[in-house]
Amino acid sequence: MRLALFGPPGAGKGTQAKLLVERQGLTHISTGDIIRHAIRAETPLGQEVKKFVDAGQLVPDEVVWKLAKQAIANEGHDDFILDGYPRTVPQAEWMEAYLDEQDASLHAFVSLVVPDEQLVDRLSKRRVHVETGETYHLDFKPPPADIDDAMIKQRSDDKPEKVRERLAVYKEETQPVETFYRERGLLVEIDGVGDFEQVYERIVEAVQDQA
Ligand code: AMP
Repeated sequence: MRLALFGPPGAGKGTQAKLLVERQGLTHISTGDIIRHAIRAETPLGQEVKKFVDAGQLVPDEVVWKLAKQAIANEGHDDFILDGYPRTVPQAEWMEAYLDEQDASLHAFVSLVVPDEQLVDRLSKRRVHVETGETYHLDFKPPPADIDDAMIKQRSDDKPEKVRERLAVYKEETQPVETFYRERGLLVEIDGVGDFEQVYERIVEAVQDQA
């Protein structure tokens, strides 16, 4: 099954992608993870894109498209879940053309719907383990006591002023991608509010018939 997970920052894409990988055997392709990895490793690409990520802005389409295409090609075209890609209409157009060429078009474009107030709360309280990438929420899923505090950090783009910028960018540049997939009959809207297990069940039930 080939899925894309969509939604504003903080909607729970990463969490749901992880569950779908563990339980449905899909391969996880996250452009955000690929980009953060390049920044941490200080590769030329990482150095080029850091300023966009730190400012809460999107990395230019051509750069992300190359990363996404490479990642999809490496993983094969049978079972994958795209997390955080496509994020603009040009990215969606390029990907559609590429997947059509490979005879591997998406089965569903899953959009998680969460109100803005909840997004701001989730992101401002999100913490990440710098090595494993495991995410925590200070209230609902605090980091276990035996983990060294120094390993738990707030993402630089999860600071309140960056969160507002990311939500504004989402509304302006990213939300139109939903219309693109609605027109193709692939949009599946999922209520992203509630326990992550509930949200997972909603996704699985909704995509079952799409494959
Ligand atoms: P994420 O972890 O998906 O929230 O991504 C973190 C940051 O990486 C975003 O705020 C962007 O700066 C960049 N990024 C990730 N995916 C994309 C994409 N598809 N297009 C443009 N920028 C992206």
